[in-house]
Amino acid sequence: MPNYICITCGVQYAESALPPEHCLICEDERQYLGWEGQKWTTLKELQTSHRNHLDVEGPELISMVTEPKFAIGQRALHVRTPAGNVLWDCLTVIDDRSVAAIQALGGVTAIAISHPHYYASVVEWSRALGDVPVYLHAADGEWVMRPHPAIVFWQGETHELVSGLTLIRLGGHFPGGAVLHWAGGARGQGALLTGDVVQVGHDRKTVSFMFSYPNYIPVNAATVRRIVDALEAWPFEQIYGAWFGQNIKENAKAAVRYSAHRYIAAVSEAD
Ligand SMILES: [Zn+2]
Ligand SMILES: [Zn+2]
Repeated sequence: MPNYICITCGVQYAESALPPEHCLICEDERQYLGWEGQKWTTLKELQTSHRNHLDVEGPELISMVTEPKFAIGQRALHVRTPAGNVLWDCLTVIDDRSVAAIQALGGVTAIAISHPHYYASVVEWSRALGDVPVYLHAADGEWVMRPHPAIVFWQGETHELVSGLTLIRLGGHFPGGAVLHWAGGARGQGALLTGDVVQVGHDRKTVSFMFSYPNYIPVNAATVRRIVDALEAWPFEQIYGAWFGQNIKENAKAAVRYSAHRYIAAVSEAD
């Protein structure tokens, strides 16, 4: 039986003889139903029309996107460290070329995903990369549409995957929304891989925090304060966001502080 994939969010579902009636992720307020109604595809179909493109982002950091764009269009990042490698966020399309490229870079110790919009076809990736564990925050467990023994639900506020790569739960966009802190990133000054839990703006100098990006629903001031406080103890010079090219290459921590200040002013009542 096929594992159907929603064409709007790109999330792969548990196997079923017929396509599911609903995509729970797209029917949630944070997403939207495709304008032509709910449509489904399969990995097999996608593999005839799409492929993944890899790019070097910097030392020990590779980005991967699907071409042509599919569903939300996020990128995945492969981070290499002496202690082990991690695939951060995930794509729906998986092809032999991209798997071989990741294996040639030393493979991965684990996969970790920022939030449910990017769960994609992570079970396929786990299998293809050697049955590696997939770290998802337990607070978002209800959004896993294809349960699998490789999925590890981590709990609490932080979790070190390997020495120097630590998941930090920030919430906001989703209760379990997480970022990955890479201690050795930015030549040892630290980097954050954020998905859209901390969204890099088009100016590539500031960030934002939203409950829903497509439907323009902000989070409140207290949530932004909590996110900034949770990041305060972690050094980082750079941020790599959800989209190809959306990176803050210097002074990223100051950028987060400034952006939070601006955001809180914008959502607070004027006196
Ligand atoms: Zn969907
Ligand atoms: Zn999202």
